[in-house]
Amino acid sequence: MAMFSTLGVLKSAIGNPISRVVLTRSIARCPKCNDRRLRIALARYAGVNVKACLSCRMYSFVIGGIIDIGRVLFRTSKREMRNFFNSHVTRRGLASIVRGIAEHGITQPQQLGAPFLVVWDFTHACNLNCKHCYQRADRPLPDELTTEEAKRLIKELADADVVALAFSGGEPLMRPDFYELAAYARSLGIYVALATNGTLITKEVAKRLKKLDIYVEISLDGASAKTHDEFRGVPGMFDRTINGIKNCVEAGLYTCVATTATKFNLNEIQETYELTLSLGCKRQMIFNFVPTGRGAEMANLDISPDEREQLLEQSYANLVSSGGCDVLGTAPQLARIALSHAQGVKGGPLVSAHFATSANLGEHTRLLAEFLGGCGAGRIYCAIESNGDVLPCVFMPIKVGNIREKPFLEIWRTSQVLRDLRDRSRLKGHCGECEYRYVCGGCRARAYGYFGDYDMPDPGCVNNLRYWQKLKEAEGEQLQVSAEAKAAA
Ligand code: SF4
Ligand code: SF4
Ligand SMILES: [Zn+2]
Repeated sequence: MAMFSTLGVLKSAIGNPISRVVLTRSIARCPKCNDRRLRIALARYAGVNVKACLSCRMYSFVIGGIIDIGRVLFRTSKREMRNFFNSHVTRRGLASIVRGIAEHGITQPQQLGAPFLVVWDFTHACNLNCKHCYQRADRPLPDELTTEEAKRLIKELADADVVALAFSGGEPLMRPDFYELAAYARSLGIYVALATNGTLITKEVAKRLKKLDIYVEISLDGASAKTHDEFRGVPGMFDRTINGIKNCVEAGLYTCVATTATKFNLNEIQETYELTLSLGCKRQMIFNFVPTGRGAEMANLDISPDEREQLLEQSYANLVSSGGCDVLGTAPQLARIALSHAQGVKGGPLVSAHFATSANLGEHTRLLAEFLGGCGAGRIYCAIESNGDVLPCVFMPIKVGNIREKPFLEIWRTSQVLRDLRDRSRLKGHCGECEYRYVCGGCRARAYGYFGDYDMPDPGCVNNLRYWQKLKEAEGEQLQVSAEAKAAA
């Protein structure tokens, strides 16, 4: 079936007004069963034995039928689907998708009822002094959320069906209540990740993290002590970070190495990948440089669009050839490159910014790519600051609300900035007319960082060379970021 007819069938079968009314009503809590009808329906679909009143059984029947339409379109067996839904985390994600369809219909890219991922800049405290830190982290802020407020936030995120919560910073391990809060999030069924510089991860810390069974992402900005330590601002940190990585791998944690690519370390990225492999890590995440926070002062180290293209091609090649180590990236152009390979003669895994799937969907590959949609800022992902401010992305310092003042879901639903970011028809330059705008969309934080306007083209893409050259001409080699971005940073 052609992609457009699949989308058409999905829209008319699932996104039609009647299905949307059923889905909307299913989001409500059943007073008899004391849970949302949708959650009950998804659990029952997966074969989980949950209590359901007559009304919830009817909703389960109808929702099961709606899911089956999608299942048949994607030629998936009922057993495969049931296995897929067996995980609590998957059902959470599906609940968020269903809520998104109920609220917005089927959209390109898909809008969700709640973000899949929230990155929580949990504290401003940090033991390092990195050149590219988007937070300018050093000491804790005086108004950081208290432990009780943090727990209320976690509960709110769990109730909203947020799938994953990443504790970031600053250095999250500097806050003593990290373990208590991470355990609380796990107890509510949230997938928990930790983004850390790794220098505080002793063998004992790694064991404690393993007990929480969380995903650990450790920043490593070079394959040599010279490069990493210069970037990180403190000598001796390379060895401590490597030790932290080794301790995590030894404890059996899913360990990812995160590397921010700049001109400073570009020629070491491949070596860093090989080091990641040799350390036994499961993933390398290549972070796109964004000129914000302390990074705003080193925009001249940003790599050119051609360099980024080569780097992403190499990353994709590593992903395809790796022995058990994923290579992902936060540059949404990786989704364009992956899709062109996945649709090519040889096929291959599909990657979207920050996300990947190895599912082989044949002619539906593009449909899934357009569902994932590349840049997820304000659409499938958002950030929360240590004081409760909500941002579209950690790299985009635009406050869209504060969870001390408004419920998280209300901010998610009503913020005009978040709504704008979900609307790809607003994009300017080549991003606005690009055939990959629903697959990639450009990094909106880079557009904001360079132009003070999140609708501008991402100047890091080979399709937007004109904008990159203009930036270079205007500022010379010493690229400066926009006054708006600097003021906001
Ligand atoms: S703006 Fe989008 S692509 Fe850029 S870092 Fe944020 S989520 Fe990723
Ligand atoms: S032009 Fe924009 S949407 Fe198209 S691939 Fe480049 S960054 Fe992505
Ligand atoms: Zn009920």
